[in-house]
Amino acid sequence: MIGAMVLMDNYARVYHQMLLSFARTGQPTTTESLVNALALSREKVEQSLNLLESGGSIYRDPETRAILAAYPFSATPTQHVVRFADGHFVYAMCAIDALGMPVMLDADARVESRCTRCDKEIRITVKRNALEEVSPPGARVWYMQADACCVAALEQCPSINFFCSTEHLEEWRAEQDSAQGMLKTIEGAFAHGARIFGKLLKQDGKFHAL
Ligand SMILES: [Zn+2]
Repeated sequence: MIGAMVLMDNYARVYHQMLLSFARTGQPTTTESLVNALALSREKVEQSLNLLESGGSIYRDPETRAILAAYPFSATPTQHVVRFADGHFVYAMCAIDALGMPVMLDADARVESRCTRCDKEIRITVKRNALEEVSPPGARVWYMQADACCVAALEQCPSINFFCSTEHLEEWRAEQDSAQGMLKTIEGAFAHGARIFGKLLKQDGKFHAL
């Protein structure tokens, strides 16, 4: 029991450190950096990374084992950029992840993406953990629910995107073979992202973002 609790504690610390590093640099931290930053053994860090991977919190390249994603961050460019007040930016795995990130980090930011149908720019400003500006005002998000079998990075995230309008979302949807999911307003998608990520870094009060 005590062993399990310690393991969970390490797991949470590794995940927090990974998220903070991603937020600052846009890249995953290395096992070596985690060992040094957290004063944990390599074995414990790797045990935690394995747990994070099996629980779906991070995604690694099946062959190289390189960390490609620690939700909500992507190590490789996506069409969802989250730009912070100091100008630095990171890539989000999907539209919901992008909208949840500023609240997770308690940081003002602008989500920059594009309409999946017409490539029009989407700009959403989050200030003091609330939506401030949505451009265009009728922007929408298509949200695909993951099946239990689904690797989110491969199958779910690529289907959670922004559209400039309900019309363009419906036009895109009509052309898909199977697009099971739901339309969300930006307000709804923002609330969804905040629910998933809002408390991740605040659980023990010790971690402060940026
Ligand atoms: Zn459009």
